[in-house]
Amino acid sequence: MNARVADLLRFLDASPTPFHAVAEVRRRLEAAGFVELREEEAFRLGPGDSGFVVRSGASLVAFQVGSAPPSSAGFRFVGAHTDSPTLRVKPCPDVMANGYRQVAVEPYGGLLLHTWLDRDLSIAGRVVVATPDGPRTELLAFGRPLLRIPNLAIHLQRELAQDGLKLNAQQHAVGIVGLDGTPDLADLVASELSLRRGAPLRPVDVLGFDLVLHDVQPACVLGARDELVSSARLDNLASCHAAVSALIESAGANANSASTRGIVLYDHEEVGSRSARGAGGTLLVETFDRIVACVEANEPQALARSLARSRLVSADVAHAVHPNYADRHEPGHRPVIGCGPVLKTNANQSYATDAETAAEIVAVGRERGIALQHFVARSDLGCGSTIGPITASRAGIRTVDLGIPLLAMHSCRELAGAGDLEPMIALLAGFFASDR
Ligand SMILES: [Zn+2]
Repeated sequence: MNARVADLLRFLDASPTPFHAVAEVRRRLEAAGFVELREEEAFRLGPGDSGFVVRSGASLVAFQVGSAPPSSAGFRFVGAHTDSPTLRVKPCPDVMANGYRQVAVEPYGGLLLHTWLDRDLSIAGRVVVATPDGPRTELLAFGRPLLRIPNLAIHLQRELAQDGLKLNAQQHAVGIVGLDGTPDLADLVASELSLRRGAPLRPVDVLGFDLVLHDVQPACVLGARDELVSSARLDNLASCHAAVSALIESAGANANSASTRGIVLYDHEEVGSRSARGAGGTLLVETFDRIVACVEANEPQALARSLARSRLVSADVAHAVHPNYADRHEPGHRPVIGCGPVLKTNANQSYATDAETAAEIVAVGRERGIALQHFVARSDLGCGSTIGPITASRAGIRTVDLGIPLLAMHSCRELAGAGDLEPMIALLAGFFASDR
């Protein structure tokens, strides 16, 4: 296994939730010399400075200020999202039924619910606990198999062969966390956090939580020649990994870039991005505004001029052609795993790609010997969307949507190509280096 693939597997396993993904990105950025800035305080930045901002624990923007002011060199940013479809623990999750202790969950995003059955699941996220100094947020990941949503035996649903599997999210997705006598969730959370901090925490001190389920099976390579990557959350942690890898390598290799380069990683893409920390929020534009205010406070109309010179690559996975369902794909646009990054286009602006933004990235690919594939949805099928159009409309930045090809998108376990990772990172690094 090459080092890049091994690094992605580590990233995926370290990131069972958006909060953990942002913590892992923060760790990598700090190791590369990026300094965390707090949104509550004034930024003080100059050319060459590398910084990042975290909003609400699950979204992040990181950048290196260019040697030229943004009004003359613009921003070159890569966007991606930290969240994935999952099952979120309800606020009052404790269920006792028929001798089982169960946990009530609510679907988050457009998940393939049946793929969550008969998997060894755990619980992770963030918990707010009461302390003498006031509420404090702590990350939590049990890490071990904790619960299961079992299938119903075939003998008890003979209609399955004719009717297919029909799941009701309210009725059939309640996880079993133990038998009669198992502590309730606040107890489990309090004792797990007590173990981690080495100090007792009472269940009553658990003030709130954002917890989700996740599969405990680690990410791995798969196939006779290790050509595939099998994991949860490849949509869209594979793009987050590519973005942060490209930024760190670019910042180290060429600290004198004229343009200000960066990444923005958003939560809440899978539920429409309309939130304070989502792509529909202010995180990116405010960061641009603050960078401009630091480096060219007296320049007239500097922010608008900077945005007009800027480009965004919206990095998110693309549908690879499925060999068993090839007819679901547009005949002339069938991306194949292992054949490189995919440009995504939609006439109705579900993707932001246009001729000019596509041409710029095709030119970057040609310079570096990276072939690109094209995706368009069938005209008689709906098209997914991503942060590209939302960020483009929020910030007025011209944008291209692209990403690595993926099978089983929104499954609990997705499948990508090991050979697509390096070209994707090289393409993003080439984009950062292409000052125009
Ligand atoms: Zn996605």
